Amino acid sequence: MATTKVLSVVSEIYPLIKTGGLADVAGALPGALAAVGVEMRTLVPGYPAITAALENGEKVLKLKDLFGGPASVVAGRAKGLDLFVLDAPHLFDRPGNPYHDADGVDWPDNPFRFAALSRVGAEIGLGGVKGFVPDVVHTHDWQTGLTAAYLEYDGRTRPGTVATVHNLAFQGQYPKDLLGALRLPPHAWGVDGVEYYDTIGFLKAALRMSDRITTVSPTYAAEIRTGEGGMGLEGLLAGRAPVVSGILNGIDVDVWNPATDPLVPTHYDAATPSSRRPNKSALQKRFGIKVDRRAMVFGVVSRLSWQKGLDMVLAGVESILSVGGQLVLLGSGDRGLVEGFRHAAAAHPGRVGVVIGYDEALAHLIQAGSDALLVPSRFEPCGLTQLCALRYGAIPIVTRVGGLADTIVDANEMALDVGAGTGVMFSPPNPEMFRAAVERAASLYADQPTWRRMMKNAMRTDVSWGRSAARYAKLYEDLVDERSS
Ligand code: ADP
Repeated sequence: MATTKVLSVVSEIYPLIKTGGLADVAGALPGALAAVGVEMRTLVPGYPAITAALENGEKVLKLKDLFGGPASVVAGRAKGLDLFVLDAPHLFDRPGNPYHDADGVDWPDNPFRFAALSRVGAEIGLGGVKGFVPDVVHTHDWQTGLTAAYLEYDGRTRPGTVATVHNLAFQGQYPKDLLGALRLPPHAWGVDGVEYYDTIGFLKAALRMSDRITTVSPTYAAEIRTGEGGMGLEGLLAGRAPVVSGILNGIDVDVWNPATDPLVPTHYDAATPSSRRPNKSALQKRFGIKVDRRAMVFGVVSRLSWQKGLDMVLAGVESILSVGGQLVLLGSGDRGLVEGFRHAAAAHPGRVGVVIGYDEALAHLIQAGSDALLVPSRFEPCGLTQLCALRYGAIPIVTRVGGLADTIVDANEMALDVGAGTGVMFSPPNPEMFRAAVERAASLYADQPTWRRMMKNAMRTDVSWGRSAARYAKLYEDLVDERSS
């Protein structure tokens, strides 16, 4: 059959601009889908980091006035990605983070910036760019949620629409008096439209109006239909259950490959786990903690936020130390946690090392050198760090939520009996259960043959995009068939 053409519309993309897993997924999907016969191109905002990287740009669409200024769409390639870049300097030509200024304050015109991206996504969806008329428009999170609304209210024959929820906690809600300014028709105001608790809900609009809703793990797809996990959207999602599904994220197994990774000192794979040892020493040195082969190193690579449960790690530093462990943490985020971890490092020199910031190379070293990786999230749509940890043989210690529950096999006695087990899982997320998980992990570590078995199991887990790319391809295909019948 003919190749399915998909326009992905997204607010960040690896390796050009990234604040979290959303960028990783957006950057990996086109390549993964190409392998299963889907042609995906991606529309992204023209942030300085993106326009600077664009090669052979060609203007393919001009807009006289896009929410306060002229704009155009430039097609081109950057770092191996086929992009449509929304060149709108009045909205996107700003340094730094895509969503906020240097002080962490949201750009005040965010509703217009992301409405603009969505509006242009809809325009391309409707055939605005000759030579690439998509069968499906695929949006991601609240930032591109209005795409489905613009398509719906346009009236012309529209392509199929898929909305993926990467994190339901961010919903994009703005005052209702912006309705007209956002070029939404008056009848968009209603429960079947964009109205959401008396505001304009960008994510709500996507979830109401897209043909299919996906999220990034089957368990999260179920959790978001419950009062506890739905964050106000559970009713809507439960009502749309037949079109909601969960498709796990993968990771780029070429970027994350311990056998070839240029960012780690020594290379290894599942057959040569002992070659991993020099990485542990290098990690201990890098964090200024005691170089000790026997000490169990617990690693963290994370945003420092309530979602990620790192307050449990902070409260559990003593339990890590009491099992003879060491802690290395790389992260940035909440001020309270930053202070807390800095304080812990100062209080336990030689045993706790903390680097505050964002550092891709150091993230690789932590995965390659830690014995265990802590991911105690309170909720986790999919989670990517535990997938990297599996591939690198750092045993993940995780909560039983969302994608963590779907990707880690708890090394309980029964699992170990049948030769399975790739991590340690605990529930519910609280400091007591965290402590118990640390202690269980430490006793597994003390039994080195068992630990090595777990490392092998972990490193042999398929964390690539293969399976999930095929699922997306099938979803697009079914949607196209449904709409043409
Ligand atoms: P989320 O998107 O919720 O932050 P994910 O686990 O889905 O969490 O994705 C996080 C991504 O960002 C991973 O690729 C992880 O390695 C990376 N990451 C997070 N914090 C840092 C950091 N401080 N330095 C380098 N990489 C980081």
